[in-house]
Amino acid sequence: MKIPVISAVIIILLGLMSGIYYMVGRSYELTNTVVLSGPYQPPEQTQAFHQQLFIADMHADTFTFVDSFMQRKDYAHLDYPRAQDGGLNLLTMAIATEVPLSMVKRSPEGVKRGTNLIQVGAIAGLEPISNWSSNYARGLWVINNIKETVANNPNELLLVTHREDITELLMEHELEPNKRMGLLLAVEGGHLLEGNLDRLDHVYNLGVRMLSLTHAFDNDYGGASEGVEQYGLTETGKALLERMTELGIIIDIAHASPALVNDLLIEAKNPIVYSHGGVQGTCNINRNLPDNLLGKIQANGGLIAIGLWDRVLCGNTLNDVAATMRYIADKIGTEHLALGSDFDGGVKTITDSSGMPLLTEALLKNGFSKAEVRAIMGGNYANLLMKQLPAREPQLSE
Ligand SMILES: [Zn+2]
Repeated sequence: MKIPVISAVIIILLGLMSGIYYMVGRSYELTNTVVLSGPYQPPEQTQAFHQQLFIADMHADTFTFVDSFMQRKDYAHLDYPRAQDGGLNLLTMAIATEVPLSMVKRSPEGVKRGTNLIQVGAIAGLEPISNWSSNYARGLWVINNIKETVANNPNELLLVTHREDITELLMEHELEPNKRMGLLLAVEGGHLLEGNLDRLDHVYNLGVRMLSLTHAFDNDYGGASEGVEQYGLTETGKALLERMTELGIIIDIAHASPALVNDLLIEAKNPIVYSHGGVQGTCNINRNLPDNLLGKIQANGGLIAIGLWDRVLCGNTLNDVAATMRYIADKIGTEHLALGSDFDGGVKTITDSSGMPLLTEALLKNGFSKAEVRAIMGGNYANLLMKQLPAREPQLSE
């Protein structure tokens, strides 16, 4: 009697687990959709101009969820073959570690959050056990996946950690458009460190060069734009910022509350970036930058990277992207504009990564000059990295 019951329980459990495993795999596909599906056909003239451009994206989440970057897919947004089709030369790969089911207010013990869906995914996806309960362990695991992918594909990919890497990418692109693609590591949310500041040095040594203090919820470093309390930089946040500045890690203000952005702009010694999102002037949601911060970002010499997804644009065409950029350009100039797709960030983008030539087309159509399009599509970001990334120590020859 007993053995059939036990085996029935085991079969049910296995069935449940494989069901969850299947759903986790499918959720990546189901949450990253597009308005227009490819293949895309830009006019020949645009395509010829587009190919000359150095195209750099400031935010994509692909590796947070999958590590099959080199494989072409017919779903979600970003993989190496489609990014090649789109003419992308540099991708900023975000490492997000927490998507909480709920948020609650600050308490003396810190900011408490509900179940972390990324950890649920780690369990259901049968990732290493250390990933199941630690943001830091899972963050390191994602970083390792990215670095392994780069190491296994040296003719296709380059990990960007120093300004010389940008020079190399730019030179290679001049000689042969879209030769190697650069990947830059960015942490989305300081809670990856789990309160241990020494870990910042460790992830820096692994190659991380950009970090946002918050993700879409308040944490111990500061308040989020979509958070509950809208506070600014905390004491813990100040210590983190200080160490980021010493190491030269670029400050990302995407997802930060206006109060936090203000505090960061006062304290920052270097240009900051808003890696992905929109502005309230064209789309009035909490997630977007309010008008009164635009001038301050201009004064700081920072960049605002516009997203390609419907929610931050309040629209679902590439003309809406161009209109958002036009709004910012009129206020603070095109030299502060960049591209921050949020590919594979659980959003509905207008095209997938192979559709970038259509964006070039939309910008030209909306009156941006060729020089301005060149700057927006990657020139401005490349310039910032050339100044902000560390220089390689000269190799001493014997
Ligand atoms: Zn984000």
